[in-house]
Amino acid sequence: MNLIKPPLPKVKFSVDEFPLKRELISEMLRVMKENNGIGLAAPQVGIDQPFFVGQVGKDPFVVAEPFLELLNPLLVYGVEGCLSLPGLKVNVPRYTTIRLYGRDENGVEIDWICKGLLARVIQHECDHLQGRLISHYAEGGGNAFSRLGDL
Ligand SMILES: [Zn+2]
Repeated sequence: MNLIKPPLPKVKFSVDEFPLKRELISEMLRVMKENNGIGLAAPQVGIDQPFFVGQVGKDPFVVAEPFLELLNPLLVYGVEGCLSLPGLKVNVPRYTTIRLYGRDENGVEIDWICKGLLARVIQHECDHLQGRLISHYAEGGGNAFSRLGDL
C-alpha cells in the first residue's frame, strides 16, 4: 500500500461492509506512521471508502462514516501539513470543540467530544472524505462545516 498523488478518489456515502478488513487498517496505520503522520484517510491510499485512521494519544483509532456536530463556534488557526501534499504547509482554521458521530472498524457507533489537536485531525480527515485538501484553505476557502450536509 502506498500514498497516491491527488486527485484522490471520491468516496462512497457508506462503507461496503463492517468489520473493516484488519490488514487494511494495519497497513494504513503503518503508512501513516512511516510518513510521520497523525491521520490518514482511505482515499489517500486509493480506497473509495469513507473512513480514516489516526493517532493523537497513545492508541490509534479508526472512524468510519463520520458526522460532525459543532459545539463551539470558536475557530483557531493552526499550521497543517498533509501526507498527500508533501512540503505544503497551510494555516487552517478549525473548530476547537466538535462532537464526532461515526462507527469504529467493527461498525460500533462512536460518539466522541473532541478538542484541540484531536478535533483538528478529525476535521482534516473529514475534509479528505469530502474531497477537500488543505490547499483549499490556502485559496481562502471555507471550513469543515461549510459542506456538513454532504457527509
Ligand atoms: Zn491530509
